[in-house]
Formats: sequence, C-alpha cells, structure tokens
Amino acid sequence: MTGDGAAVVDAVEAVAERIEDERAHLTELDSAIGDADHGGNMARGWAAAAEAARDLDDPDPQTVCKTVGKTLMAEVGGASGPLFGGSLVFASAELDDGIDAESAVAFAETYLEKVEDRGDARVGDQTVVDALTPAVHTFKKSVETDELPPLEALAKAVDAAERGVAFTVPIRAKKGRASYLGWRSVGHQDPGATSALYILEELLAVAADA
Ligand code: ADP
Ligand code: MG
Ligand code: MG
Repeated sequence: MTGDGAAVVDAVEAVAERIEDERAHLTELDSAIGDADHGGNMARGWAAAAEAARDLDDPDPQTVCKTVGKTLMAEVGGASGPLFGGSLVFASAELDDGIDAESAVAFAETYLEKVEDRGDARVGDQTVVDALTPAVHTFKKSVETDELPPLEALAKAVDAAERGVAFTVPIRAKKGRASYLGWRSVGHQDPGATSALYILEELLAVAADA
C-alpha cells in the first residue's frame, strides 16, 4: 500500500468500474429481499465519486476518502448514502498522516464502528456489517498480531469478507428493508455485504499493482 493520494484515486476508479460491472447482479440481489435499487444506488454513487476524485488537484489520501464519502452521501441518498458515505467521511479523519499499516487499521476500525452505530446493526443481522466485521478484525489481527505486510493482511481480509458474505445467506435479516420479510429473508445473500466485498477486492487489486 502507498500513502499516495493518486493511488487512492486509482482505487476509487477501479471500484467504480467494478460496481458498474456488477450493477445488474447487485440489483438482482436487492430485488429478492429489498427494493431493487442497490446496483443503481452504488453505480451512481461510485461513478460520481470517481469523477469527483479525479477532479481533485494533487490530493492526499484523506481528501480523496472524504470527497468519496461526501459524494456517496449526496448521490446515493436513502438509507445507504449516509450509512456508507457518512461513515467514510468520519473514518477519513484517521488518514491525517497518509496511509500506512497502522492508519489503515484505525481507518477500517472506525469505519466499521460508524456503520454499526448508524445502522444499529451487528454481526448476524444480514447486512454489510457481516462482511465488514470479519474483514476488519482479520486485517487488524494480521497487521498487529501476525505482523504480516499490509498487502497480505488485506488479502486475508478479503477472504474473510468473502466468508462473511456467504454467512449472510442462511441467516435472517434483522435490519434494513430485508428485515420486513422476516424469515423469508433466509436463503438470500445480502446486497450491501456483496458490494462491500467487491470494493475490498478492488482495493486489494490496486494495492497489489502499486
Ligand atoms: P436501501 O435499503 O435504502 O434501498 P440499498 O439497497 O442501497 O439501500 O442498500 C441496502 C443494503 O444496505 C443492505 O443490503 C444492507 O447491507 C445495508 N443496510 C441496510 N440497512 C442497514 C442497517 N440498518 N445497518 C447496516 N446495514 C444496512
Ligand atoms: Mg435497496
Ligand atoms: Mg432503496
């Protein structure tokens, strides 16, 4: 990983492309247990975020993250704009001195805490938290306890997020629109957890290339 804001802009562009590619799939997941707008919400938000990030003049990582968060808040709206975007704006404060292993862990932890707070969701509620929690905990442990290089830690975090997404399938939604379905949400993969996995996969791909 690098402390360079330009690399973060590259990552945002990679995420925007990936989300656009997965738009139909995310919409399909949300049509089963929600209101069929997750693909459109995320694609619109990340396309605008990539444009805003590209327009920044020689930005630092914190400015890029804050800009992306604000753009997601403005463009996505609904429940997920403030949840995903607002939490990003808040967590970007951890990147004051750029990105290294330590600040990346602080950023990830703060982001997860904020999403949990704002959404009042915990592991097992069939939300994005089910992907983020194992990813963040694995990243932290890999960096701090196992002392792995950040790239390897991120790769382990992505694997953990993938298992987290799979974990959303057999459980019942307790937060968000899917919770209105009660037991009928069982057997469905959470759209927000799925898009979070795609985002992490792209961060890893860009970090591996840097
Ligand atoms: P909306 O539900 O407003 O249509 P989206 O479809 O864009 O928004 O996003 C839905 C995703 O947001 C869900 O799949 C879930 O992962 C996440 N989500 C919804 N409500 C919450 C919540 N209260 N806490 C955490 N995540 C949530
Ligand atoms: Mg929706
Ligand atoms: Mg909606």
